Amino acid sequence: MYRALGISEKVFLFGNKVLEGLGGRFEAIDRVAEYNQLKVLKAMQEAKVSEACLLGTTGYGYNDLGRDTLEAVYAGIFQTQDALVRPQITCGTHALALALMSNLRPGDELLSPVGKPYDTLEEVIGIRPSRGSLAEYGITYKQVELLADGSFDYDGIRQALNSRTKMVTIQRSKGYQTRPTLSVAAIGELIAFLKGIKPDLICMVDNCYGEFVELQEPSQVGADMVVGSLIKNPGGGLAPTGGYIAGKKECVENAACRLTSPGLAKEVGASLGMTASFYQGLFLAPTVTASALKGAIFAANIYERLGFSVIPDAREQRHDIIQAVTFGTPQGVVAFCKGIQAAAPVDSFVTPQPWDMPGYDSQVIMAAGAFVSGSSIELSADGPIKPPYAVYFQGGLTWPHAKFGILKSLQQLVGDGVVALSDSVENF
Ligand SMILES: *Cc1c(COP(=O)(O)O)cnc(C)c1O
Repeated sequence: MYRALGISEKVFLFGNKVLEGLGGRFEAIDRVAEYNQLKVLKAMQEAKVSEACLLGTTGYGYNDLGRDTLEAVYAGIFQTQDALVRPQITCGTHALALALMSNLRPGDELLSPVGKPYDTLEEVIGIRPSRGSLAEYGITYKQVELLADGSFDYDGIRQALNSRTKMVTIQRSKGYQTRPTLSVAAIGELIAFLKGIKPDLICMVDNCYGEFVELQEPSQVGADMVVGSLIKNPGGGLAPTGGYIAGKKECVENAACRLTSPGLAKEVGASLGMTASFYQGLFLAPTVTASALKGAIFAANIYERLGFSVIPDAREQRHDIIQAVTFGTPQGVVAFCKGIQAAAPVDSFVTPQPWDMPGYDSQVIMAAGAFVSGSSIELSADGPIKPPYAVYFQGGLTWPHAKFGILKSLQQLVGDGVVALSDSVENF
């Protein structure tokens, strides 16, 4: 089948050689997935998910059993008092904006103690002036950079905290930066430090790409809210849209009042027949996340062995599903993305091209042949066409598909003359 799908013997054998060394890593990932599968199952059983929950509502959506029970399931998984899980939350940025805007008031200050947040949050906060930003409402922002070795600048953080600091935003994943992703344990230490100085701080964690990667979630180590997108890990590839906020009752209630309306809060919001896919996706999410993690580790090991710089490196412990590979040339970035696209179940026949995407200061190339548009829990890659010419790769609903996608990327790099494989497998 690999031959029929355009993988040469050399690329296939090289891939298998790399895989030989990964058995232990994959077993560890499977153990985490096993634990998290049971965690999800336990939450579903305890919330008494029933067949009736899989139906949807229309109109106002009063008494939507499926929606309310799903929110109880999320609260069970994240070990929080409450959760808001809605198709009306359009994406991760929206969920984060909602959590921030509903829990901050004019005169308050927001602090990021882990450096620059995800690009799209710059406009939410008003770091880049934007209509409707927190800054427009008189909410100020401070940022403390991580130290050069990726650790927290505790002195800087202590100095940044003041009487107006109401809320802290902590991004778990590195996103599209080169800093390390934060482990849940590290997030716990940071929150303990922050609350040691100011116990009433609201600590929010941007949990995007981190769900189900570890045994625990940040809400179990002190976070007041964890926030994410359903077209990433927790949607399991099946949720067609949506976002979640899980946390303290008061924080979630604030978010619900902002999403719908003061007074209506969580009581309205029709689920429009999407609930079943939210449940089923969540049920699959631990093993889907495991597949994506295996793909990321396989890619890191393949490209590190070929001499490219990879973040995280081939042996590092993982805390999210994103893999960066630095090719150093535009050709490398383009070939990698072409290979990922050619491996897709949808739109495999199109050729991705770099283009001038709004909001970016260079051309960007993206590979995505997904069932859910823009879904990055599905196999996908993108890279800005600028130094250091790195691609960011993530997702894979199944491990065999992630493996095939990475082999296909390598095949394209070999075909385009960016990479040369040795003639003898012994030399790999
Ligand atoms: C994806 C992501 C976001 C934003 O999510 P969208 O769904 O793309 O709006 C925010 N933070 C991090 C770390 C992310 O990975």
